Amino acid sequence: MDNEKTIPTLELSVELLSEAIRSFPEAILIKNLRGEIILGSKHVADFFGVSIEDLPGKNVYDLLPQKISETVRAKMKWIETNRQSDVSEEIWEFEHDTRTLLVSRAPVRNPRGEVVGVMTGYRNISPIKQAFALYEQNQHRFVTLAKTCPVGIFECNPFHQVTYVNPEWERITGVPSADILGKEWLGMLSADHQLRVQTILGPSETNRPSISVDCLVRGKDQRWVELSINHCLHEDGNSVSYIGSMVDLTSRLEAQKQMEEQVNLMRELTSAVPAIIWQLSLDGRCIFISDHWRAVTGSSPQDAIRDGWIESVHPDDRSAVKMNLGELLSSRKQNCSFECRLLGSARDWRWTLVEAQQIHSMEGELRGVVGNTIDITERKKAQQSLLELNTSLEQRVLERTQALLQSNEALKIEIEHRRHTEEMLEEKRAELDHVERLSLAGQLSGELAHELNQPLNAIQNYVGSLSLLVSNLPQNDSAVRILGQLNKEISRAAKIIKRTRDFVSTGKHQPEQIDICEIILDTAAMLKGEARRRGMQIQVKMDSQTSPFLGDKVGLQQVLVNLVLNAIDAMVGHVASDKTVLVELITQSDRIVIAVRDTGSGVPESEVKKLFEAFFTTKTTGLGMGLAISQRIIESHRGTLRYEPRENSGSSFVIELPFLEKSSNERNASGITAKSS
Ligand code: ADP
Repeated sequence: MDNEKTIPTLELSVELLSEAIRSFPEAILIKNLRGEIILGSKHVADFFGVSIEDLPGKNVYDLLPQKISETVRAKMKWIETNRQSDVSEEIWEFEHDTRTLLVSRAPVRNPRGEVVGVMTGYRNISPIKQAFALYEQNQHRFVTLAKTCPVGIFECNPFHQVTYVNPEWERITGVPSADILGKEWLGMLSADHQLRVQTILGPSETNRPSISVDCLVRGKDQRWVELSINHCLHEDGNSVSYIGSMVDLTSRLEAQKQMEEQVNLMRELTSAVPAIIWQLSLDGRCIFISDHWRAVTGSSPQDAIRDGWIESVHPDDRSAVKMNLGELLSSRKQNCSFECRLLGSARDWRWTLVEAQQIHSMEGELRGVVGNTIDITERKKAQQSLLELNTSLEQRVLERTQALLQSNEALKIEIEHRRHTEEMLEEKRAELDHVERLSLAGQLSGELAHELNQPLNAIQNYVGSLSLLVSNLPQNDSAVRILGQLNKEISRAAKIIKRTRDFVSTGKHQPEQIDICEIILDTAAMLKGEARRRGMQIQVKMDSQTSPFLGDKVGLQQVLVNLVLNAIDAMVGHVASDKTVLVELITQSDRIVIAVRDTGSGVPESEVKKLFEAFFTTKTTGLGMGLAISQRIIESHRGTLRYEPRENSGSSFVIELPFLEKSSNERNASGITAKSS
């Protein structure tokens, strides 16, 4: 009660009212019916551009632009007539300025109730108008944007009733806007998502965070969406609405699932490969490494991801590895291959072969590097042992080859030696044959000489008897001459037989003084008939009439007969224009040279060596002893008998007989004594 007494009663005085109006923050003005200002607030004074003290007494129609003052007068009239308050929205245009004013007018009455003036309050609502226009513009923009946006957009009031959905929202949910507008939408979420969204969107919450969650939306069918909600907050911080967006995740999730499956498949595939498969991103970090890493290094592939793998590379190889990979990442190379050592599970260094190449996006942009690393330690060891084996094999082959070469050489020498021995054996055998045949021939000729001696003596006796008989006959000249010749030949035959017997028994002949010219002429005369019979002739060419010589007459004649007969034989059947046997005698100071030349076939090169061998013959009826015996006879005179081919065709057999000093000391093995010259 005491308190009630202390509260003063509100007594409004005109002064107090005046003061209140003057300091009123809105434009308020009291004027009389003539339009003169009685009282105005500071805002009015500012509006008219005068001071508040100057306001009373000023006519408002003077202060207003003409067009406006007319409108205001009309309103005043209306108020006077109707005596009612008036609220109107008026657009006032000032110079360079258009304002929309919300004006309210009320009649001011005196105590008698007569209208004495008008109280006008007005407010500039241009900024509100502009803000509203801007709002409408924004609203239009929002709707346009939302219509074309590929994201589902919806707007709700704080009570979760949908006020707007865009076409993409309708597409995602399969719900037409007509079915959802004005209705609560939270029922489209699963219970737990509903709770979560509701908790965050609760009506009393302020400064609500925006929400972003992947959830299942039940519309026509269920679809996974990424749901984001943002509050539209009023100045006071209260939420007036919220705008939500839905991004359809179904296809993305499907793609993601497929990708995960692919990645799993790749992981499984790469684990099945006995190589480390890896991938580096553009900044050189390892973003994938297959399980085989564990098999080689014993450490987990996760530890190798990013930069962990480099720790397993041998310190000496690290810079080369980085350089190689760097070349790929900087596109200096597209692929590369190199070897490096990795720390193995048994803390040993494993040799690996790395093959790496760039990978690109579909657009050809470099995305990183992929590669595979295989453990080649065992291969390297095998290569090394193969190399060693090869080297030792090569060494062994070399040694063997050398040994073979040596034994080959030894074999060659042995073969040569054997061949030589065999040749020698053959020669010795031939010599032995030769000697045997010679001794047989000697034996035979000895026997023959012995056997022939008897009949020859008998012939000589008969010829002697015949000569006695013929000497008594008349005109016996021819017979006597023939018998003389016969006697001569018989005694030559006897001498040959004797010489042969001597030769076979002792190998020696008794030399005698002979004339070589005579021997040559005798031989030619003896064989002339034979030659003519065969269409040939014998020509003798001597450089002296006589040629005395100490030697074996029978032997030397035998030699000449042999040579001339051979010459005749050589020309038989041989086509030659001149078939002549030429016997030449050349007397030199120290020797006599006799050559028997023919124009026959000559002796083939291969047979020249064999000419003087006993029993060598090319004739069907030949004995092959003629030249052998001739050579022995000449050699027994210390002379030589040789063969010389003739220039065009034919042979020359040349005898050289040296003159020897008559000295008992120089008597040679054959018993021939040199003639004194
Ligand atoms: P033979 O007359 O019984 O064959 P030789 O010892 O007198 O024995 O001669 C040996 C061989 O030498 C002959 O068979 C012949 O082939 C060759 N010969 C000898 N003289 C001549 C010659 N003047 N021209 C060509 N060949 C010859």
